[in-house]
Amino acid sequence: MKRRDFLTTTALGATALAASACHRAEEVSEEGSLPGKKRKKVTLKLATSWPAHFPIMGTGVDTFAKRCFELSGGSLEIKVFPKNILVPALQVFDATSAAQIDAFHSGVYYWKGKNPAFSIFGGMPLGLTSEEMITWMKFGGGYDLWRELYAKFNLYPLIGGTTGPQMGGWFKKPIDSLADLKGLKMRIPGLGGEVMKKLGVNPVLLPAGEIYTALERGTIDATEWVGPALDSMMGFAKAADYYYTGWHEPGSILEITFNKARWEKLSDEHRAIITAASEEMTGTMLQEFRYKNAKALQVLPSNVKVKTFPKEMMDAAKVALSEVLAEESKKSADFKRVLQSYETFYALNKPYDDISTRNFLNIRS
Ligand code: CA
Repeated sequence: MKRRDFLTTTALGATALAASACHRAEEVSEEGSLPGKKRKKVTLKLATSWPAHFPIMGTGVDTFAKRCFELSGGSLEIKVFPKNILVPALQVFDATSAAQIDAFHSGVYYWKGKNPAFSIFGGMPLGLTSEEMITWMKFGGGYDLWRELYAKFNLYPLIGGTTGPQMGGWFKKPIDSLADLKGLKMRIPGLGGEVMKKLGVNPVLLPAGEIYTALERGTIDATEWVGPALDSMMGFAKAADYYYTGWHEPGSILEITFNKARWEKLSDEHRAIITAASEEMTGTMLQEFRYKNAKALQVLPSNVKVKTFPKEMMDAAKVALSEVLAEESKKSADFKRVLQSYETFYALNKPYDDISTRNFLNIRS
């Protein structure tokens, strides 16, 4: 180890992780930790589905890469490529699977076409919140199933952030009854879109860059996006007055996914650093979404009316969701198996949540 590298490592030695990595470097001779020599630098290419430095999601992955560099004493460099620089936004899964790039940061819900079961890992309408989703993944068997199914694509996934509860979307006219939904064209993806279809909505998929214009010109009647912070940036309040509270994405999960062969070639310490940095990123992103959404809600333009969908619509959405889940389970054994694991955790969690978080929030309000 050269003196400069030793000093760099020592400067970071305050963290237990870096100290442990340094210690291990003397014992093992895997990539990234050659004993008695300058540590071999590993550079990985990671592509995202977001524009460069896109708020919260894009800046989150920028920070993840920075943290991997810091925690590894500079021996692990993850180069982040925004969408369409190395590969188009929605081809990052295939490009990583084929080892054209090493990793990607994206949303799990995009890959429903690869395996219908993947939509469950991305989040479920009327389902688990972000904290509950992560608990299912880590302790309830979700991660094992996700990794088993991704291994068939030569991929190794990690949770790479979560949005917290998303809003129900922007509507040009108020929704006062189930009948008001009939024939509406709405930009809404995933299982939420399938449910809306059963309620009479015509769900459409539009890339982020086209949503505002479509809403403003009336090509679509409604759109969902994320929450007050990111929705304000999109300018939706200039094209629609009614902003509905959420139900269809209570805890969407983002992913940092690696080419599995490349992941296995990394040293134990680099894998540990990436895992720790991804957990840090997930916690920070959830907190950042909460803080920035709370701030953005305070300064919504005065034309915006925040509303909650009528009970009759949500009752119908619950019935429609159970139909969608039954249909998907019939079509896909993987979907059925992942759903069973998800529902087992849901049933375990609900009685405890009812007497803890939910009960407390009722008392506090
Ligand atoms: Ca959304």
